[in-house]
Amino acid sequence: MLEELYQKVVEKDPAQPEFHQAVQEVLESLEVVLEKHPEYRKARIPERMVEPERVIMFRVPWVDDDGDIHVNRGFRIEMNSAIGPYKGGLRFHPSVNLGILKFLAFEQVLKNALTTIPMGGGKGGSDFDPKGKSDLEVMRFCQSFMSELFRHIGPSTDVPAGDIGVGGREIGFLFGQYKKLKNEWSGVLTGKGLQYGGSLIRPEATGYGAVYFGEEMLKTRGDSYNGKICLVSGAGNVAQYATEKLLQLGAKVVTLSDSGGCIYDPEGIDTNKLAFVMDLKNNRRGRIKEYADKYPSAQYIAIDPELDYNPLWNFKADCAFPSATQNEINTKDAQNLVNNGVFLVSEGANMPTVPDGVNIFIENKVLYGPGKAANAGGVSTSGLEMAQNATFSSWSRKEVDTKLHNIMISIHAQARAAAEAYGQPDNYVLGANAAGFCKVADAMIAQGVV
Ligand code: NAP
Repeated sequence: MLEELYQKVVEKDPAQPEFHQAVQEVLESLEVVLEKHPEYRKARIPERMVEPERVIMFRVPWVDDDGDIHVNRGFRIEMNSAIGPYKGGLRFHPSVNLGILKFLAFEQVLKNALTTIPMGGGKGGSDFDPKGKSDLEVMRFCQSFMSELFRHIGPSTDVPAGDIGVGGREIGFLFGQYKKLKNEWSGVLTGKGLQYGGSLIRPEATGYGAVYFGEEMLKTRGDSYNGKICLVSGAGNVAQYATEKLLQLGAKVVTLSDSGGCIYDPEGIDTNKLAFVMDLKNNRRGRIKEYADKYPSAQYIAIDPELDYNPLWNFKADCAFPSATQNEINTKDAQNLVNNGVFLVSEGANMPTVPDGVNIFIENKVLYGPGKAANAGGVSTSGLEMAQNATFSSWSRKEVDTKLHNIMISIHAQARAAAEAYGQPDNYVLGANAAGFCKVADAMIAQGVV
């Protein structure tokens, strides 16, 4: 029956391969869950969960600095609101399309269910590329985007946040336009600046959370990060703060990357070098190649489209934190990681490993934390930001970090307990899917056929 459902999903929207991939992984995990819970099958929960509650698509016209007019496409997928308002990021990247956002929204529903905070799932964005645009161009684009989105969102309806290409600058412009149009200050977006309702630790949360999740996995084998060599991909929000937390916990990070290529620094990226990367990426908006120009201990390896593997995943290491984008670890990369001694993979990015790569990790007993569990720290802290906004309060750095840490411990425990209940304690894919699904399914059944 689940195979039949998968075929229907593919037939209905054949041009959405990333969505098919995300659905297939979850449906495979659900076989054992539905055997135990025929009530979910009877209520047609899987069929209802793969269909978004609402999809919004709109035109986003904007004017560049030379006075030329451009048109992009805007999206918001309101996937599932059974356990709370739709919640999930906005992505601005030229690759954005309906299928990619549906995959992200579908993952988000299960992820948010694990956070212990009442949040439904959504995702949105645009095929707009902020790279190379001036601040004023980005502002005009964000204002045009929000001029349509504002009528569909609200603090109790749908609360977007950042994702690839959407950081503090973009959230500021989006929030300003929402506030002007609605004549209302509310916590309608998360990832806001600290001066206007943002939460301490929100920028750090996804990266820190992925490291905390990895720490819990290590503890199951009586191990810690001390002295471990780590590969991190990406150089954006998630990669930067995963690196920062790993350094604090005694690990050595030797790689970072962007869409142009990667750097390998066998001496390790220390706090000074990380500060250089943060300034490079967050203020000067430069390329990671400049790291190797500045630090002679590092080599830069440009992306080679002829290669069928990514050199970043082919260095000797203990742990890996994919933190760039979907499908960045192919089957060969997964095998290279295992061959080079990597025994822990904690995913900062969403679905960064192809399905056969995941199977290689599981077969080789790699401690593998799938994105929907390992990177849930970001949305969890967004939930904490919503709680602070709703009560007009702001918590200290320590308070938020402690709550984030406890949430990651709880997500790990839920995923492990669910996996154990089905006889596969180390299978966090099964555990995260089963625990997230059951919570949403129970809420959907309680609310009737809506
Ligand atoms: P970001 O700040 O925009 O950084 C993204 C990084 O990944 C950049 O270094 C970027 O390089 C690289 N990248 C993006 N697309 C790429 C591609 N197609 N090929 C190669 N490199 C690519 O975004 P982020 O917030 O760190 O997000 C990274 C990942 O984490 C995404 O999968 C996102 O969905 C996931 N995530 C983020 C959050 C969050 O709170 N931000 C929460 C949960 C999950 P360029 O600059 O060259 O494009």
